[in-house]
Amino acid sequence: MPEYKAPIRDIKFVMQELLDCDQHYQGLGYEDASLDMVDAIISEAAKFTEQVIAPINQSGDAQGCTWKNGEVITPDGFKEAYQQYVEGGWPTLAQNINFGGQGLPHSLSTAINELFSSANHSFAMYPGLSHGALATIEAHGSKHQQEQFMPKLVEGSWTGTMCLTEPHCGTDLGMLRAKAELNDDGSYALTGTKIFISAGEHDLSENIVHIVIARIPGSPAGNKGISLFIVPKFNVTEAGEKSDRNAVTCGSIEHKMGINANATCVINFDGAKGYLIGEVNRGLNCMFTFMNAARLGVAIEGVAAAEASFQGALAYARDRLQMRSLSGPKNPDGPADPIIVHPDVRRMLLTQKSIAEGGRALTAYLSQLVDIGHASACKAEKENAEKQLALLTPIAKAFLTELGLECTSHGVQVFGGHGYIKEWGMEQLMRDTKISCIYEGTTGIQALDLLARKILGSKGEILKVFASDISKFCVENSKDVAMLEFIQPMMTFGADWQKITEIIAQKALKNPDEIGAASVDYLMYSGYLTLAYFWAKMARVAQQKLAEGSTEQAFYQAKITTARFYFQRILPRAVGHAACLNNGAESMMALAEDEFCF
Ligand SMILES: Cc1cc2nc3c(=O)[nH]c(=O)nc-3n(C[C@H](O)[C@H](O)[C@H](O)COP(=O)(O)OP(=O)(O)OC[C@H]3O[C@@H](n4cnc5c(N)ncnc54)[C@H](O)[C@@H]3O)c2cc1C
Repeated sequence: MPEYKAPIRDIKFVMQELLDCDQHYQGLGYEDASLDMVDAIISEAAKFTEQVIAPINQSGDAQGCTWKNGEVITPDGFKEAYQQYVEGGWPTLAQNINFGGQGLPHSLSTAINELFSSANHSFAMYPGLSHGALATIEAHGSKHQQEQFMPKLVEGSWTGTMCLTEPHCGTDLGMLRAKAELNDDGSYALTGTKIFISAGEHDLSENIVHIVIARIPGSPAGNKGISLFIVPKFNVTEAGEKSDRNAVTCGSIEHKMGINANATCVINFDGAKGYLIGEVNRGLNCMFTFMNAARLGVAIEGVAAAEASFQGALAYARDRLQMRSLSGPKNPDGPADPIIVHPDVRRMLLTQKSIAEGGRALTAYLSQLVDIGHASACKAEKENAEKQLALLTPIAKAFLTELGLECTSHGVQVFGGHGYIKEWGMEQLMRDTKISCIYEGTTGIQALDLLARKILGSKGEILKVFASDISKFCVENSKDVAMLEFIQPMMTFGADWQKITEIIAQKALKNPDEIGAASVDYLMYSGYLTLAYFWAKMARVAQQKLAEGSTEQAFYQAKITTARFYFQRILPRAVGHAACLNNGAESMMALAEDEFCF
């Protein structure tokens, strides 16, 4: 298993040098988030993830979770590690001080989430779901519900889940069958079966708070008749203490491709007591709070997978001796050269590096927007942040998870046959990260959300905010010769982004299938351009640091070289996506269903 090392230097580069987190935090009134405090928290998180969480990653995968009579036992070491996680105060970091949180910025906890996910995807999901449950109760729960459920969730002694999926409906939640009937005391009795519930049952926490969607009898069919409920595994007293067992049971756990140490559960509700959150039939709207938080979390999983795989592949490529360099021996005293001399191995390593570092910058930027949404006193600034988040969240979720998966495949490939063998841990990264392209809305669904709902739904308005940031950056740097290699392609790709959008909008007027046929290519095009923008900005910072005579010449030079690689070898993929989507829906839709196979 590759030894995980938290990429502290790069996290600091992104947070402090690229995004000036100090000014950002002080401007939003996060007085406790001084640079010293940020540094200390990141260093502690690095130690904890390297020394406690990473060592149980491979053993957790091999052992998996076990189900016995409705109870789920997590793999050896998980319970102790979770206890340490709680004792270290990690769940409380960015939570509301009124409920026992430390009130630190969301973006700081997001940066740390990457470390947890790289170290151990399965472990990171247990507290990850609690964050979403907390965000939902905080945004939509009553004051009483907040007081009853939040303190223990914040503390980490209870964990949360998100219960949406049913056997016959995942994407199309409007078809759900779980029902919620009003009790005499104002609570509801929930009945139904949810499947694929991450962390739905386990032995890490004292109680599990399920956030469940269900239909109240008599509600309209489809999405407009869905309500949202809090359903605890153990009932909770008025004072917020655990009491008797609720009628919620775990019917079984799934045996899966990856994240074997995270329990994926069938959860049965047999008249379980639940409490309505928000208004009747507005459940999906409330659920979007959970889903948006979770989507950014899943985007970070893509970055985390790329980083972990890159670390393993780089160490191996420097060590493994095979063949000689095409341009003459580089290790003349050895029997062969290390494989890092070979251009194709470098292609894979640099792809991983450019996606991990570029994705880190994009997700850090998005989490700063979330901070602004939470804490800014300026209405215009908040609105701008919300628009950018609406546009960039589906891009980050789908693009970074697809590219994260690609990077883990490169990781296996760099190891050759050894990558395919379990012992090295590279295939586990690939198996574990595939789910990130599926849950929280598949890539196809994110692409439809981006193109149909957000871009075309706003008649292109939503694109303008971010596109104008790109144009502004291009104009500001257009006279700088050293930046031209980045600015010129970005201007071309940026202008084409607008043109492509207009073409699809025109075609969609005649044939709505054109939207679905274009959507994933459109999302990938948008992703490649978005990451190009962040790489150009990082190159700019690196150039400035070099010009100021920084002592870290190698670090900043590597940033510029990686930016160049991204622009020369990754960004051109967007041209292919543009060509595909410009070719339209016809060839995709021409075959009748019974003509697919003869
Ligand atoms: C390990 C794991 C953990 C999970 N954790 C949770 C959890 O904690 N809570 C929870 O509620 N759920 C969870 N899920 C469920 C997950 O969110 C769903 O599997 C996912 O949303 C897809 O739903 P589905 O499996 O029903 O696929 P379907 O909805 O049947 O989709 C199948 C395929 O059809 C495509 N498709 C469907 N509709 C369209 C359309 N309109 N346009 C284009 N393509 C379309 C999809 O993109 C997909 O490729 C988890 C699943 C797994 C495997």
